[in-house]
Amino acid sequence: MEENNNKKPKEEKNILDDILANAISSTQKYKEMNAGLETKKCSGCGAARPDDTNLQYCDFCGNQFY
Ligand SMILES: [Zn+2]
Repeated sequence: MEENNNKKPKEEKNILDDILANAISSTQKYKEMNAGLETKKCSGCGAARPDDTNLQYCDFCGNQFY
């Protein structure tokens, strides 16, 4: 009887761990996909560089994009 009571919390914890692990891995995948699709960003100030321009330097801080 007591063994049954001890089993339940264990199972719940495993499910939570699975959900957590799943959330973390899908968050990482989402970030990777976003990084590939988004326009380049300035490594200095994080401003997005428009894709249809040939700017080589950031308009905001002058950091070189390439
Ligand atoms: Zn910048």
